[in-house]
Amino acid sequence: MSSLSGIAASSGIAIAKVYKLAAPDLSFEKTTVEDTDTEIERLNQALAISKQELEKIKENAKRTLGDEHAEIFSAHLLVLSDPEMINPIQDKIKSEKVNAEVALDETATMFINMFKAMDNEYMRERAADIQDVTKRVMSHLLKVTFPDPALIDEEVVIVAEDLTPSDTAQLNKQFVKGFTTNIGGRTSHSAIMARSLEIPAVVGTKTITSDASKDQLIIVDGIEGKVILDPTDEEVAAYKQKQADFELQKKEWAKLKDEPTLSSDQVHVELAANIGTPEDVVGVLENGGEGVGLYRTEFLYMGKSELPTEDEQFDAYKSVLEQMGDKPVVVRTLDIGGDKELNYLDLPKEMNPFLGFRAIRLCLERTDIFRTQLRALLRASVYGNLKIMFPMIATLSEFREAKAILLDEKANLTKEGVKVSDSIEIGIMVEIPSTAVIAKQFAKEVDFFSIGTNDLIQYTMAADRMNERVSYLYQPYHPAILNLVNNVIEAAHAEGKWAGMCGEMAGDSIAIPILLGLGLDEFSMSATSILPARTQIRDLSKKELASYKDQLLAMGTAEEVEAFVKEKTNQ
Ligand code: PEP
Ligand code: MG
Repeated sequence: MSSLSGIAASSGIAIAKVYKLAAPDLSFEKTTVEDTDTEIERLNQALAISKQELEKIKENAKRTLGDEHAEIFSAHLLVLSDPEMINPIQDKIKSEKVNAEVALDETATMFINMFKAMDNEYMRERAADIQDVTKRVMSHLLKVTFPDPALIDEEVVIVAEDLTPSDTAQLNKQFVKGFTTNIGGRTSHSAIMARSLEIPAVVGTKTITSDASKDQLIIVDGIEGKVILDPTDEEVAAYKQKQADFELQKKEWAKLKDEPTLSSDQVHVELAANIGTPEDVVGVLENGGEGVGLYRTEFLYMGKSELPTEDEQFDAYKSVLEQMGDKPVVVRTLDIGGDKELNYLDLPKEMNPFLGFRAIRLCLERTDIFRTQLRALLRASVYGNLKIMFPMIATLSEFREAKAILLDEKANLTKEGVKVSDSIEIGIMVEIPSTAVIAKQFAKEVDFFSIGTNDLIQYTMAADRMNERVSYLYQPYHPAILNLVNNVIEAAHAEGKWAGMCGEMAGDSIAIPILLGLGLDEFSMSATSILPARTQIRDLSKKELASYKDQLLAMGTAEEVEAFVKEKTNQ
């Protein structure tokens, strides 16, 4: 037996035979074409067949995965009809007299590299979408068959370099027990879909495709992020037990879906979800989310060639608010710029984009963009329980300026006779240390705080969250972080306001007891983390955890904090 570790992308245990989903041979030669019109026609044909196929896969995905995930294929179909993508391919054939394969490959590679260069993980994963579409078109140009996982008819674990969204959409849960890949992260489409299909998955193992061979027995442990090849009988027995335990645990979690989140001493905290699109709301409700704690609106602006209109945004915000009913929905205004690029905005390249022109800094300069978003939000406010928060606030004057613009747009709408809710809370993300340090002053003016630890940690520790070489410094349990978090919570409470957290730390099982003890009011996390968190909190006494506060805040290292929490909470 041999074992590998990777990223636990979707929980559960799978035990079955290896099915290798090999990529087709898409190699080609560069040739010169004289009749460029015929070559362009050949390209158009390949595009047309690919479109037909994707329509079919989309319908299939709608049936097996639901509308929400089928939308990925709408995005793929858009790539195929996007003039920004297709025109340069046709132009290349015409001007450079190259064959369609070369023109397609070079143009797609240019776009893929552009997306991959972005510091935002979500955007980097979008490069995979273009790659997926390109491979399909290429296979039709070359007339090679594309792999079809829908044909699998025995129990298997799929082993692949990466699973494309179209591969994933064709998976039949009856036979595909799990999958594992060489590459990918927790936010890759394959991982998102695996969670939605509830198929155990481990991604990013680096070498599974060369380590595994066809029909070999394999165990995928999507709880720990482990893959075992040729397990012994004892290991198989142990994992079958783990599988049964996990199924039981899921049944236990599900019982809490409609329950409030109460600690063992009956204190309520709110468990909310982070979302990126209106389609994500289904998963929030299925997982018993008590609200949306962070709606990252930037996805409305990405993957297109121009800014979204006010009406487009209004529809998205209204949809989220309506689906959530009277549950709170915290919408973050645009956090773009720096690491999250928009090619159509033509922002200058920066040496340190994380410290640069982004989020509220950009919005306060490009007030045209900001006002459009605020108007859309204000118009949607009557459809639910909306709270608005500004990202990357470093100074009180930024907050005041942003709030003034918001109130100005509210007055404009009222003058125009448009109804706007009168109970919208206005808060900020605390992700810059300066704001955490003077949270007391902020608390007098804001309605709430949401602590963005993903950024707060990197700024506090001066450790780029994307840089693996300094990842050892990226320490959520570092006492410096805990002191800042505590400062924000105390400041909020002193003014009768609430404090939430929407960074990844909020769903972390070591951080949860600490945050509960510090008095955090709202925890916002990925939807599938909600029920495990609710289960954990029901066994924790807030009073007891609060009694450790001074001790934890006075500790010297993250290791001490972690060891202490593990001991006190039996982890
Ligand atoms: C954060 O910084 O913690 C956060 C939630 O925002 P993002 O990850 O989008 O920067
Ligand atoms: Mg952030």
